[in-house]
Amino acid sequence: MSAKLLDGKGISKEIQKETKVKVEQFIADHGQPPVLAAVLVGDDPASQVYVRNKERACARAGIESQLHRLPATSTTEDILAKVIELNETPKVNGILVQLPLPEQADSRVILDAIDPQKDVDAFHPHNVGLISQGRPQFLPCTPHGIVQMLKRCGLETTGKSVCVIGRSDIVGKPMAMMLGQKNSNLGPEMANATVTLCHSRTQNLASIAQQADILIAAIGRPNFVTPDMIKPGAVVVDVGINRTDQGLVGDVDFDSGKEVAGFITPVPGGVGPLTVTMLLENTLMAAMIQSKPIV
Ligand code: NAD
Repeated sequence: MSAKLLDGKGISKEIQKETKVKVEQFIADHGQPPVLAAVLVGDDPASQVYVRNKERACARAGIESQLHRLPATSTTEDILAKVIELNETPKVNGILVQLPLPEQADSRVILDAIDPQKDVDAFHPHNVGLISQGRPQFLPCTPHGIVQMLKRCGLETTGKSVCVIGRSDIVGKPMAMMLGQKNSNLGPEMANATVTLCHSRTQNLASIAQQADILIAAIGRPNFVTPDMIKPGAVVVDVGINRTDQGLVGDVDFDSGKEVAGFITPVPGGVGPLTVTMLLENTLMAAMIQSKPIV
């Protein structure tokens, strides 16, 4: 058996086209484009690539992007000053601080300082709280993209058993929260799952994973998920991006995994493009929220 590929790249293009149309309408209504400000601290090569990809995607969608570079030696206070400046700049609708930050900077303090209305990564406790209560303002880009992809491929989550491996604040935890809710921004069929959140201390992980109709791996370990961990016919979503001597690989052993799974995302070309795409959607959403009349 060979799994069907979930074409994140193609779906991203489709969503970006839709976003572009909505951005054009926003510009027609408000006379200016949504604006995303990225803060890049230091010169980590992977972060430079991610930020460049985000800038290019913004340009394609008609969203204005700003890049604020700070030196690798920046302190928490230096980065905070930049975030506060951007919070107070009305023209800026969305702020993203590219992670990871240099060791001396306190990421938690910095992310907490972003205005929740401009928090397009949805990392602020205010936004995380809203997600946990099932009434999100913004959804974190990677889980948001995964739900979009599943929906557009006709893969509903309601009533399904889902195993999420990895409990990061960026991917695993919000993914588990979102799929376990009663409803989603795409309707109840893209929520209402029975979710198991696995992590580094989980016992019998392989057998838990093997029972899942939908398996989402966000671990950061190359080829961690092997065929014995996949239920035959399951939907396998590979979030991992691991740089190895063999090039970029995911958290799922793709070649053997695709023989068991029913659907599988490739790496690259799966979840990655969707993450950038949902950042555009969130920036547009931020601009719309901020342009609403105050009542
Ligand atoms: P993280 O390092 O913050 O968290 C990893 C999680 O994996 C932890 O919760 C940990 O408990 C779990 N884990 C580690 N070892 C484990 C083990 N042996 N068994 C079970 N669980 C284990 O990671 P993250 O930020 O969520 O990123 C995970 C991966 O996804 C990385 O490869 C990252 O590069 C990638 N990523 C991709 C995208 C994308 O757009 N495709 C976005 C974000 C992250």
